[in-house]
Amino acid sequence: MFKPITTAAVIGSGIMGSGIAAQLANVGISCLLLDIVPTQLTETEAAKGLTLEEPAVRSRLASSAIKQLAKTKPAPLYDERFAKRITPGNLEDDLHRISGVDWVIEVVVENLEVKRKLLSDIERYWRPGVVVSSNTSGISINEMTEGRSEDFRRHFLGTHFFNPPRYMKLLEIIPGDNTDPGVVARMTEFAEKKLGKTVVQAKDTPNFIANRIGTYGLLVTLREMIAKGLSVEEVDAVTGPAMGRPKSATFRTLDLVGLDTFVHVANNVFEHVTNEQERAVFAIPNVLKELVAQGRLGEKSGQGFYKKV
Ligand code: NAD
Repeated sequence: MFKPITTAAVIGSGIMGSGIAAQLANVGISCLLLDIVPTQLTETEAAKGLTLEEPAVRSRLASSAIKQLAKTKPAPLYDERFAKRITPGNLEDDLHRISGVDWVIEVVVENLEVKRKLLSDIERYWRPGVVVSSNTSGISINEMTEGRSEDFRRHFLGTHFFNPPRYMKLLEIIPGDNTDPGVVARMTEFAEKKLGKTVVQAKDTPNFIANRIGTYGLLVTLREMIAKGLSVEEVDAVTGPAMGRPKSATFRTLDLVGLDTFVHVANNVFEHVTNEQERAVFAIPNVLKELVAQGRLGEKSGQGFYKKV
């Protein structure tokens, strides 16, 4: 009933979408990588006399994400030999091409309305037997598919990869109320055997398991740092390599995740909890709001808590 996965479409070519496409390419799966059509030319495009109608400009977000993948530090997210397995495109011209793939994975901004609209567009080209999943960090799987057909919802679930997808073993799988148990079993088997993941099944509660605990820890650490007059470097010194956690110092991790994404993710819990104590923890501290307002989004913008070197 469900197709074996040999091809995929990844929608959203940001940090996670490009990283997931890279991991799929590394294990032999051809994938489409789609993103929105840019609304402005870059300086280089303008200097070349290109227009916003040019196909290369319309698919620029996904194509430049693919070029960036091989340069990722400290280790590349994919083997450049497999670059041709990823086909860049854009959502306006190429969404119809998802009708030919075995798995569609939504990896766009952490915003319920954006994801809902995209899933309704995806359903127009979807065929029964094709699994559709979301990489959301914590938005409800059930709410995301409100308005979609019963059959579509049977094929839909959360597949939450961690950053960077090539190296992080954990994958949370989140069934919705309507997800067919057969889809859950197939995706679990695929993720374990083909992608080498350790799968943890989570309930459809705000931020699932890892990000519920993770956002709590990060926000409490940030507040304690401010209250105790500590510096970012001091906190990272005792939560990173010196503690045997080579890649997970607190603020380096926040910069890697993206401060805007982290704010969306923490807000998702804040909006769902009613208990005053929990609301006090998940409320976004001003320092984070200010950094995001200044465009200091972390590594993806060149500066967050740290400046990218
Ligand atoms: P990102 O900001 O790097 O990329 C988001 C992409 O969505 C961009 O390429 C953007 O062009 C595209 N986009 C924006 N508006 C859109 C629209 N209206 N329609 C379609 N596409 C649109 O974000 P990211 O970090 O890659 O996060 C993507 C998803 O993965 C989110 O749901 C996020 O919560 C989740 N996630 C992120 C991390 C992380 O560490 N950053 C980890 C796990 C899960």
